[in-house]
Amino acid sequence: MAERPYIVGNWKMNGTRAMLSEARAIDRAAQRYMKAEVAVAPPYTLIHAVHREAEQIGIGAQDCHDGDDGAHTGDISAAMVADAGAKFVILGHSERRADHKETNTQINAKIEAALEAGLRIILCCGETLATREKGDAVEFVLKQLKASLPKIEDAAERLTVAYEPVWAIGTGKTATPKDIEEMHRAIRGLLDETYGAEQSAEVRILYGGSVKPDNAREILSVPEVGGALVGGASLSAESFLGIVVAASETEDA
Ligand code: PEP
Repeated sequence: MAERPYIVGNWKMNGTRAMLSEARAIDRAAQRYMKAEVAVAPPYTLIHAVHREAEQIGIGAQDCHDGDDGAHTGDISAAMVADAGAKFVILGHSERRADHKETNTQINAKIEAALEAGLRIILCCGETLATREKGDAVEFVLKQLKASLPKIEDAAERLTVAYEPVWAIGTGKTATPKDIEEMHRAIRGLLDETYGAEQSAEVRILYGGSVKPDNAREILSVPEVGGALVGGASLSAESFLGIVVAASETEDA
């Protein structure tokens, strides 16, 4: 499987300049835990400031517009986030799909714009509780991904997939290791088919949904889990670093 576990903090709509001290603390600690690759996605307003603080961690955006520029009040293009210091962008997050009614077609257009701007992609997928209870979770997630996986030759360098069951985000509930493994293996199968086994092997599949310091070890030890996308627990350096330490101590790290 691909290189180091990848631990990504998604700050969502949280953080003013007061959060820069957390970013500094995360960055300094990340220099001591090099067995994990660490990144944060602050809100747009902090990307540049966090980028200036960071020597070790990767910086990303939580979304971008699909256009290059123009009359789109309030929107931010992929080139703009890259210019502010972002190296990746999270796309297709379930909160964007729910709050902004983003469709796979729109997500695809954003992916294209982000790749064009030289950004790496973290592509999110995940089922609702109703879908899981019907027994359709794997089928649903594979369909979602089939609709959005970009047609690229260098998936190994450009793509990360994040499996985030919608019902586990911010709720304190997590999927069982068995369910996570089943889903991640199914996603790996699709990546193999789409990109070939060699490229696919380098694409990390993150798990996201209420990952905390006290459950990180178990989740990160599940086969095919290449890291975690972390919301709530990434807002304090202490809890986020608890996950980073767990990642750098997991067996394959
Ligand atoms: C997320 O929204 O990407 C997420 C995983 O959030 P939380 O860790 O708070 O569940």
